[in-house]
Formats: sequence, structure tokens, C-alpha cells
Amino acid sequence: MSITRFNKILIANRGEIACRIIQTARRLGIRTVAVYSDADINALHVSMADEAVYIGAAPSRESYLDFHRVLQAAKDTAAEAIHPGYGFLSENADFCRACKENNIVFIGPPVEAIEAMGSKSAAKNIMQQANVPLVPGYHGSDQSPERLKKSANAMGYPVLLKAVAGGGGKGMRQVWSENEFDEALLTAKREAMNAFANDDMLVEKYLTQPRHIEIQVFCDQHNNAVYLFERDCSVQRRHQKVIEEAPAPGMTAKLREQMGEAAICSAQAINYQGAGTVEFLLDEDGAFYFMEMNTRLQVEHPITEMITGQDLVEWQLSVAAGEILPLKQEQLSINGHAFEARIYAEDPANDFLPASGKLSFLQTPKTSQYVRIDTGVRQGDEVSVFYDPMISKLIVWDKDRDKALQRLTKALSEYYISGITTNIDFLHRLASCEAFKKADIDTRFIEKNYDEIFYSKTNDKKNTKGETYYLAALYCLLEQAQNSAANSIHSNDPNSPWHSGDAWRLNESNNHRLTLNINDQVIDITAEQLSSKQPSTSSSRFAITINEKTLLAQGALTSNTLNAEIDGHQSRVTIADNNGDFQLFTDSSAIRFNRVLPDLGEANDTGHAGGLTAPMNGTMVALLVETGSVVKKGDALVVMEAMKMEHTIRAPQNGTVIEFYFQPGNLVDGGAELLNFTAEEKPEQKLKP
Ligand code: ADP
Repeated sequence: MSITRFNKILIANRGEIACRIIQTARRLGIRTVAVYSDADINALHVSMADEAVYIGAAPSRESYLDFHRVLQAAKDTAAEAIHPGYGFLSENADFCRACKENNIVFIGPPVEAIEAMGSKSAAKNIMQQANVPLVPGYHGSDQSPERLKKSANAMGYPVLLKAVAGGGGKGMRQVWSENEFDEALLTAKREAMNAFANDDMLVEKYLTQPRHIEIQVFCDQHNNAVYLFERDCSVQRRHQKVIEEAPAPGMTAKLREQMGEAAICSAQAINYQGAGTVEFLLDEDGAFYFMEMNTRLQVEHPITEMITGQDLVEWQLSVAAGEILPLKQEQLSINGHAFEARIYAEDPANDFLPASGKLSFLQTPKTSQYVRIDTGVRQGDEVSVFYDPMISKLIVWDKDRDKALQRLTKALSEYYISGITTNIDFLHRLASCEAFKKADIDTRFIEKNYDEIFYSKTNDKKNTKGETYYLAALYCLLEQAQNSAANSIHSNDPNSPWHSGDAWRLNESNNHRLTLNINDQVIDITAEQLSSKQPSTSSSRFAITINEKTLLAQGALTSNTLNAEIDGHQSRVTIADNNGDFQLFTDSSAIRFNRVLPDLGEANDTGHAGGLTAPMNGTMVALLVETGSVVKKGDALVVMEAMKMEHTIRAPQNGTVIEFYFQPGNLVDGGAELLNFTAEEKPEQKLKP
């Protein structure tokens, strides 16, 4: 394939997708221009591009979403084309039009195609006319609550309310019965208004066990269209993809062809050009329904690249430059199996609440023909509150699903991040789940396997959870020994017992005591240093006792790596030191620990019942009760919005709301006290085990 037309392109995006596009452009000899906001001055995509243009303040609305600034940057640098990536301006018809008016090629579909698919209800109308099967539902223009409810009642519950302008799972609510309808409609509308400035809704029959199967299509400017097979994106949280795979397990050649052709039919119904994805729901009985078409490159496009051996960004550049599609349908085939796991800064145990902060330690698995990592960050970078908290995409490939899955779990077990809460352990547990191994997946996979994913011990290989405590203790002991050894260099007499920097005591065994806070549990540890002929170094033997169980432990410490043997089991673990907050990564889990220093009576017990502080930076959306209200434990008190998702803060116990400190619309800092709340009675003291 030769690309002659573009000498220079601007990438109107940031993070991993900007980096990924730059890589292909660079390989093809195309110069790249990055754009950046205040938050991204030192970002990876900026350093990778040939040129970079500052476009404004950190909030996306003032930079990455401000298409006048982006366009101006392209004009100023004489870029011939703009690649919008995904998100931001990628599906913005006005931006696409403005590019055209300024003689800049928009690397994406024509403006009419974006417009046609911009509204979920308009898209459904078009597909209906093109005889593409639709999920039953109401997508009309009468937006009165009565009309919406009537259609829900008529089709029977459960139903799904969806924002017509929606995306990213925002403004979407399941409704299981008529009496939930009004409240769900209000919340969905509010979320939609916040995210899209449009709160029109459609109502769909909610399918309870569907799979999300999407087809990658490509069309050129010469009426050629192909599909690059399917991706199964059924494993989701909050209607958002978590792990995707290609091809879809159990897909028959016949169904693949039917869905592929339906996808091409959808694309041709809107005179599509470029890369697009047609999303379907596949019901248990093999019936499939059009959901929507994404008129851009998808986050999960790499798994299609892995199984087809194609570079989709290269295809995009080629099609945008007016060339014919590089391959015909019969020249495309599937080779092997690929998975993509989205590594996010978020807390799965806390309803996947987005996290932000500094990646103080980052060690990734080695990349190869089997393992690919698409990322936009390096160790030391910040995951900012302003943008999507995705850290990277871990993509693996192998000859078949079982082998690829083994690659995925192994790579996840070698992905170490410290400084920010991530979903890596969650992904590892999910990928290790029996049901996932058997490919027993649908869009409720996480709910259905919740206990196994969140609580099962079977995913912790060889009881490493117990062993990790000893590893943490061993690390502290070795580190202490190392420090002592360093200090003893200052003592001149090597034969003096005082030269030995360990816990040597006259007439006593060599005992150490330490208290560790491991995953919020306070653990008392005693350790006897076993006689060693050598002076105390970073390699020593101990009998470590935790909860009355004593195990023999020895190991050697070199920078972040601990080579350890606990009770005869040898392992190598990585430890990140974040100013005394340690994180220890084994092949199946990570624990967080720090040393508890003796309490000198200065500890200040804030005694807060918890839950009434802002979980992170965000905006106050609604106060749900009046000042002075007497509420029950669990009652919803306020709604906050952070990263465009709503979070409800509930009463931690029965009590009275005295005063709200923020009003709707106010910006709230993470950790800020939201309201003055008096508990009915003193909360039970939680004793730590
Ligand atoms: P968004 O554009 O906000 O991502 P989609 O319409 O693509 O929303 O839907 C996202 C996910 O929500 C789907 O992948 C699927 O899991 C679920 N979903 C959407 N529509 C339905 C439905 N009618 N029944 C069941 N699940 C649905």
C-alpha cells in the first residue's frame, strides 16, 4: 500500500490513541502534529510527535473539544489532514464540516454519515428502512414522560432507557418495573443533559442475556466495502467494555457472514467511508439486532488487527487519501485469537469509581508478537481528573482462545502499577474465572460471576494471599537489614557486636517485631533472625510468625525485586516503594502495606462515619433531601458527578441532615466534606481484626 497524499497530519486527540496513530504515521513517513492542553505539556503523545501545538486549558471543553483551536493548529502547521482518534471530536459533524470548508481532510466518514448516526433514534429509523433488524422499542419524537412510560408498559419490563445522543453508557438506565420508571427517567435525563446537553430518550426492550457483537467495517470512496469480522465485547461494567475478544467464541461461519453483510448494509445505507463499527446485540436464540454504528476507530480495534494482520490506521489513512481498499473480502481471513483488557485507574471494589493521581511505579509485561501494549503514559505521569482514566490497553494474541487466554492472565500478572488504584487485579480475577475460560459470556457476565470475581480464593494460586503477608514481612526485614548494613559502614570495628546492624541482643535470640498495615488490616509480626555466619546483609534467613503460624523465610533484595523462599516455595516478586507505602505484586495479586510506627499519642482520630465526603473531584448535581430531614441508613442524600458519571452518596446510618455544604453546580474537591450529618446513635466501633 502506498500513501502518497499526506505529508503531514494533525492528531486531534491525546493519550494512547494519539500515540498509536503517531506510530503508524511515523512508519509510513508521514509527519505528525500533536495538540496538547495545560495538563499534557509533558505527555507522551507530545514527545512522540514531530510537532506539537498548545490548544488551551486542561478541561476538554477548553482544549480537545474546542474545534476552532484544533483547526487553527492544523492551519498553522499546514497539516493536510486531521485524525480525530476516538472520543473528543471524532463524531462531531460540525468539526468534520469545518475541516472540509478549510480544505483539510477529516480522516473519517463524510459529515452526512456522522449526522445520520449521531442520534440513536435517527440511526434506528434509517436501519429500519434498510431492513436491518432492530431491538424492539420506541424511538419517536414525542418525548413526554407519559408517552415514554406508555411504550415501556406496552412492551413489558425490563426496558432500557437510552439517551438519544448517548455514548459511553451515559444516560442509560435499566427499568425493571413500572414503579421504578419515573425515577429512572429523571436520572437518565439528568445524566444525558449533563453529558450531551440533550436529554431526549428512547426506550428499548432490555434483553437479559445478550452478547455484544460488533462488526468492523471499512468502506472506500469507490463503493467498495468489506467487513473485518467481529469482536465480542460482552464483558462489561456499567455498559462499558472491559475485556474484548476476537473472533467471538462459538461464532458460526454462517452467522458471521449474515452479521457481516448486515453491517455492510448498515454502512451503505448511509454512504459510509472509512473505518466504522456496527454494534449488534446477539440474543440467546441466535437472533441479532442493530444497536448503533460508531463512525470512527474503536478503542478495541487492535484485536481485529491482531487476527487479521492489518493496520487499521494505515487503512484509514489510505481510504482518506482516496485510495481503494487494500484488500477484498475474500482476501481477508481470521488467524488465531486475540483479547484486549482495558487497564483503568479505577476502584472495582468501590463501584469502579474513577481514580486519578501519579503513576509512581509502572512496570509492564514484555511486549512481543503475542503481547502488545497501547498506552499514552510512562512511570511518573499523572492520570488526570480531566480525561478518561484509561491507563493502557493490554492486547494479547495466540493461535487459539485457550492459549491467548493464558497469555492474557500471565501478562496481567506481570503488569505492576503503584500510586493509583487500578483494575488490574480485577481483570486478572475476571480472566481466571471458570465461566470466562469456558467462554460462557454475556453482557451480565460480571454480575453473574460477581462472587467468584470479587471474593473467590480459588483465583489466588497456591494460597499466595497467605504467603504474601510473609513476603511483605520479609521485605521489611531485609530492607531494615540493608539500611543497618549501610549504617554500620560508619562503625570502624568489624568485630564489635555493635558493628552488626541487626537486632542482636546480648544473651537473647535475634528477634524483631514489626507491625504492618496490610490491605487495611493491622498485622503484628515477630521474626527471629536465624544464625548467619555472615554479617547481616540484604540476604538473610528468618523464622517469621504471623497469627501464631511460623514459617521459614529467606530471600535477597535487589532494588524492586525480592527473590524469596517461604516455607520452601520460591518466588520472585516486585515491590514498589511509594514513600513508605509499599505495593507488593505476586503473579496473581497485589497487596498494599506500610509499617505502622509506634503511636506516640499524636494520632488524631477524626472519627468520621465515612461516606459523606466527596469520593473525588467533581460537581454537585443534586441534593436529594431537605435540610433537617431524618434519614435512614442507605438513603440517597446527594448526587455528585465525576468524570461524567453520577455517584450517589448515601446515609452511612440513621440520622439527621443538618446542613449541605455544596449546592448543585458547585465544584467539589475530592475528600471534601459534603454535609453536616448527625448520627442517631454512635456508630458501632469497627474493630480491626
Ligand atoms: P453507548 O453508546 O452509551 O455505549 P450502547 O447503545 O452502545 O450505548 O449500549 C452499550 C451496552 O449496553 C451494550 O453493549 C449492551 O451491553 C447494553 N445494551 C444496550 N442496549 C441493550 C438492550 N436493549 N438490552 C440489553 N442490553 C443492552
